Amino acid sequence: LTGSLDTGVTMTTHPNDSAPTGTAERPPARLTVLAGPTAVGKGTVAADIRERYPDIWISVSATTRKPRPNEVHGVHYLFVSDAEFDRMIADGELLEWAVVHKAARYGTPRQPVLDKLATGRPALLEIDLQGARQVRETMPEAQFVFLAPPSWDELVRRLVGRGTETPEERERRLETAVLELAAEKEFDVTLVNASVREAADQLVKLIRSPHISGKS
Ligand code: 5GP
Repeated sequence: LTGSLDTGVTMTTHPNDSAPTGTAERPPARLTVLAGPTAVGKGTVAADIRERYPDIWISVSATTRKPRPNEVHGVHYLFVSDAEFDRMIADGELLEWAVVHKAARYGTPRQPVLDKLATGRPALLEIDLQGARQVRETMPEAQFVFLAPPSWDELVRRLVGRGTETPEERERRLETAVLELAAEKEFDVTLVNASVREAADQLVKLIRSPHISGKS
């Protein structure tokens, strides 16, 4: 099913999944996993949701990469040492983790996610494809959303435009992006990120929707 909405966001529900009806008065809290290629705007969409939809809890990942200017420990990431990341893995504290762009390790602390779902609060993970695949193994009942760019040229434009990577890093991320784009079919739903605000609104509808029947 592909439909262009008035908002300019294209949403595709992949085969074998029925669309959520939204009829339940109080849908159960569900875990939504947002993934997509580098620079597609996952972080920007997540930041927009954080600002406009405070009822939706967004997981704070641990990472071994260094903070960028304006990034705050505990808000954007838990910035940890390699040794601390090793400890988190050894103690089974991570729901998933991956080396991203061959540069640093990123992982989702497990307990906060389980706690939030248990209290009935919808939770969102914004992670890379390798991590999304791990969550699919351990929590198949989660909803997997792929954020796609309007076009390849637009993806390249966004990566160059944000200017946070060196040329070498940019090349590496574009190589990763080719593989990541091919993974779209593994996801339950695709959102095309033509407008951050509209993509965020669509994602929030999905996050709040009841469990898709047949996925338990
Ligand atoms: P950045 O360094 O630009 O903040 O993020 C780089 C990539 O790491 C993004 O694609 C982001 O989705 C991914 N990422 C962030 N947190 C996690 C996490 O907890 N687990 C995994 N697997 N990837 C993550």
